[in-house]
Order: sequence, then C-alpha cells, then structure tokens
Amino acid sequence: MPHRVLVGLRLRVLPGLKEQLLRARQTVSLATQIRRQIHVFRNVPPLREHRRGLLLHGESVGLVPTMGALHEGHISLMRQAASENDRVFVSIYVNPTQFGPTEDLDSYPKTWETDMEQLEALDVELKGNGKGRIEAVFAPMTGVMYPNLPPDSTLPGVGSFVTITPLAHLLEGASRPVFMRGVATVCTKLFNIVEPERVYFGQKDIQQTAVIKRMVSDFHINTEVCIGPTSREPDGLAMSSRNVYLGERRRKAGIVLWQSLRAAEDAYSRGKCDRDEILALGWDIANRMMMEQDALSETERARFEVDYLSLADPQTLEEVDRVDDTRGAILSGAIIMLPLEATTDGEKLGRERDTKRVRLIDNITLTARVR
Ligand code: AMP
Repeated sequence: MPHRVLVGLRLRVLPGLKEQLLRARQTVSLATQIRRQIHVFRNVPPLREHRRGLLLHGESVGLVPTMGALHEGHISLMRQAASENDRVFVSIYVNPTQFGPTEDLDSYPKTWETDMEQLEALDVELKGNGKGRIEAVFAPMTGVMYPNLPPDSTLPGVGSFVTITPLAHLLEGASRPVFMRGVATVCTKLFNIVEPERVYFGQKDIQQTAVIKRMVSDFHINTEVCIGPTSREPDGLAMSSRNVYLGERRRKAGIVLWQSLRAAEDAYSRGKCDRDEILALGWDIANRMMMEQDALSETERARFEVDYLSLADPQTLEEVDRVDDTRGAILSGAIIMLPLEATTDGEKLGRERDTKRVRLIDNITLTARVR
C-alpha cells in the first residue's frame, strides 16, 4: 500500500510519467505472458517438490527425454506431449552409459543456449493453443544421475543397470552392445524422478520404443508410452542431432538409407511378402550408390558401409522370413558414413570436418494388410 501512495505522489509531481509507467507495466506484463520462465532443475529434490505441487492441483505431466541438440524431431514430440498433458517436462542429459567406449560421447553436440531458445519459442507457440505448456527442463549433472558409482559403459560393467533382453541385443544392439542397457537404465531413473503420466519417444528410434514399452510393462512403471512419427528433412533424411557431422557431400550420399528402405517398402506395397524379395530391392539401391561413389575420385566421393537392413516382427523385433499379413513388419537399417578421404578448399564440411564415422539409422513400418 505505501508503495502505491508513493507512486501516486510522484505521478502528480512529474506529469507524463504516469503514461510511461503504464506503458512500462503493460510491456512487462506482455513479456511475462509471452515468455514465461521455464523452470530449470539440476537436482532431484526441487524437481520432485515442484512435481508434487502439480499433482496436488491435478495437473498431468508428459515427459520428453532428450540428449539436447534439439531439432524439429524433438520439438514435434513436445508438441504432441503438450496436446495430451497439462505440463511438459523435457530432460536434457547426454547419458554416458549408452555410449560405447569408442563412441562419440565427448564430441556429442551440446547446444544449451539454442536449446533453451527453442523451448522458449515453442512455449510461446503453445500458449495460443490453450493446452499444455513447457513447464520444466531437467538437466542434471552425471553425479546426480549416477549418485553411487561412476557410470560404466563397459561389459559386463559395474553399477546398477536395467537390461531388457533379448530386445536390447538385436539390431542396434548387435553393433552397440551397451546402448540399449544405457537407454533403459537412464529412462528408469528419469521416470522415477519425474513420475510422468506419459512419456514421449520418436518412431525414428524404433528399437528404443520397443525396449521402453517392454520395460514399462515388465517393471509395472506407472506411465503411458507414446510414440511420435519421424520428422524428416525435405528430401526424406530422418532428422538427427548427429546430422551436424555431415558436410554437404556426406549429407547427399546419406539419403541412400531412406531410399533403400523406401524401395523395400515399395516391394511390400506391390504384394511381396518374402524377406529376400523385399530386402533385395533395398540392397539394390544401396549397392548401386556404393558403386557410384567408388567410381568417383577421393575429393568427390562419400563412402559408406551398410551395417544392416532388417525385416523384423513389429513386437519382438526378431527377423522374419515372411511378413505375416496380419501383423505387418518393421523395415529398418543402419549405415555408417565413413570419414571423407580428401577435401577441397571451400568445401562445405560438417562439424569435426567430416573426419568422424557417422551412424545413421531409419525405419519404416509395414502395416498389416489383413485385420
Ligand atoms: P535423442 O536426443 O537423440 O536421444 O532423442 C530424443 C528423442 O527424440 C527420442 O525419443 C528420439 O527417438 C526422438 N527423435 C530423435 N530424432 C527424431 C526425429 N527425426 N523424429 C522424431 N523423433 C525423433
């Protein structure tokens, strides 16, 4: 009250100030309406306290786990979470236990400032929808996530792990043996910390979605697993935080995975069910691109290896010899873009100047033909 009186007195003394103050107040209130503060939590207890408050008000929470370096694929999951929950929590944490000892943990892109800018912009966009908003970011340090022993990404490894077999050993698991164990472990921690009504994962990492669904079911975790479609670049390349490693040349050749999967999908659409007949079309595309690249000089080509092309059961992810018309199947693949052998002056290079191997994965769901 005294404060108001004081302002009133000063307004009479300085004519014109009233309008200025009013305008300033309007600007402030507009700014707070547009840019709400997104809560950033680094530790578990304050997040839990905040979460409890939301629970008491009957507000639902959707969690989108990420490793940051946000792109439209992540944002689309957050939009979905906002349309189905009152509040959206986003975790940003590069989890060491899902990287093998020779993988890119140290160089994984970290873009905190632009991540936060994207989240704030998304929150403003969501305001107009009258549904959920971006409530909080959980960005812990590793000591918070692994409070007792240093994280271990060797096998068998020492520590507390969540292992979902055989799912975790198939497909990506064959080349990246600790990957799915790390994912299941960190997601268990995140789900226990946030206790979200729903969790959101991208179809792009199809095996991850199968592992998480199995984990939630087997451990009776009280959350619903929701899957969002893969966001793609205009030419079809699946968006990924690792795409920043691809300079122009490797980026162009990297589309081969999507093209191979599309060719195999086409065979299924034309009535083929046999594994060899379906996958042969995918391999044709990959082999042709490989030969084209081999024929070019070192300063022109972008070489790659195909790790696998797979045709698998949609639930178990076990390889199938024939697609069961009533179940459909998952077509998936992984390629490794090899480092460029030679570069030219002025060439558009990616992060780390295209000296790193980059693994690209993608998949297509072949839907059941008979219901
Ligand atoms: P990451 O930060 O790569 O661990 O991904 C976090 C989440 O975003 C995972 O559920 C991914 O499946 C999902 N995601 C990544 N890329 C895409 C994409 N292109 N489209 C849809 N979801 C994606």
